[in-house]
Amino acid sequence: MNFLTAEQEMWRENVHRFMEKEVGCEYVQRCDAAREYPYEAYRKVAEAGWLRMLIPEDQGGDGGAIFEYALMCEGLARYGFDFATAFMVSTFTAMNIVKYGTKAQQDRYLDAFMRGKLRFSISISEPSSGSDAASARTRATRTPDGWKIQGQKLWCSGAAAENVVIAMLVRSDPDAKKHSGLSMLLVPNDTPGVDIRKLPTMARRATGTTEIFLDGAIVPEENLLGVEGKGWEIIGSHLELERIAVAAAYVGNAQQAVTDALKYAHERIQFERKIYEFQAIKHMLADMQTAVDAARLLTYRAADMASNDQPCTREVSMAKLFASETLQTITRQGMQILGGHSMLPESNMERYFREGMQATIGGGTSQIQRNIISKTMGIR
Ligand SMILES: Cc1cc2nc3c(=O)[nH]c(=O)nc-3n(C[C@H](O)[C@H](O)[C@H](O)COP(=O)(O)OP(=O)(O)OC[C@H]3O[C@@H](n4cnc5c(N)ncnc54)[C@H](O)[C@@H]3O)c2cc1C
Repeated sequence: MNFLTAEQEMWRENVHRFMEKEVGCEYVQRCDAAREYPYEAYRKVAEAGWLRMLIPEDQGGDGGAIFEYALMCEGLARYGFDFATAFMVSTFTAMNIVKYGTKAQQDRYLDAFMRGKLRFSISISEPSSGSDAASARTRATRTPDGWKIQGQKLWCSGAAAENVVIAMLVRSDPDAKKHSGLSMLLVPNDTPGVDIRKLPTMARRATGTTEIFLDGAIVPEENLLGVEGKGWEIIGSHLELERIAVAAAYVGNAQQAVTDALKYAHERIQFERKIYEFQAIKHMLADMQTAVDAARLLTYRAADMASNDQPCTREVSMAKLFASETLQTITRQGMQILGGHSMLPESNMERYFREGMQATIGGGTSQIQRNIISKTMGIR
């Protein structure tokens, strides 16, 4: 990808070196096996100053561009998409506080976030509202003590970690139309009445995804993010950044899967030949690398457009769709190339494969991305 500027190439290299030297594949593997949040790596990323990257300078950050952010997500996902999720979910959710937060909210949360002392999660989904997220039922009622929340959220990634503030989609007006009765609240994960349980999922084992039971939890009035009844607008802008980040991370993880498969094909000998010499394997590897390059190009285009404030809903959905399906397809091919060895955790491929299986679901399913793309083509 030599169309990156020299600075961008250097930044990309920097993140890759960090992953090799400061984190390492074995650490990521261990966190997955133990279902443990990667606290140590999170601290190192915070110390490197990378959590501040997208935060504007006048709010104490570095004011970096979305394109460079995407390069970071690509690099952090090198040894596994789930690992990168710990950072992505916090960094892209923080941008909602930047864009919609009051000065008091920004002062309270952003500095602690940039120092790695406070994390963010985003909670949109519920048991009965997944793709149809705007049908959220979790009810927030204004009381003299603040917003009282009753209901259940589902799949909130990273919410069970230490010191997390959850940006939560709630129904604040049950009588308003579907999309205009929604608001966003900032809910610290240690709020009384908030019960968070990590789920035993096939993928996302380290960062963890959760179900959240809300039984009369109260957050102060000033924890409303943005305008009451305008929660859906926040979700729209949030999902654009989230989908660029995850697409870049799928690409990073997929590239490592190709590299691992290529290495194994050079090491494994059957019928007195290295298995890459079989045309069936050679072509599979060629297809895998081609798909990853195509996914990377689509992702870079979307990230570049977003960096330049160009409307890019269609391009973002194309990148999310193609990169997620690429991770899923090429890790399945990787499993085939590694043969029986692929089934063991130390191969890493089974972990990449599990991440590929969730990639076409989390952040909006492939079917929803196709619906968005076809809508921009005038097909409803
Ligand atoms: C590992 C993981 C982590 C997650 N993390 C988070 C998180 O941090 N925060 C959060 O809020 N959510 C999170 N999610 C939830 C995720 O966004 C939802 O799973 C996703 O939006 C799909 O919703 P659903 O699972 O309820 O599936 P459903 O919406 O019930 O869909 C089931 C099937 O029907 C299809 N379908 C539904 N509607 C249509 C349609 N209109 N046209 C065509 N096909 C359709 C879907 O594509 C899918 O194949 C996470 C999910 C996973 C698996």
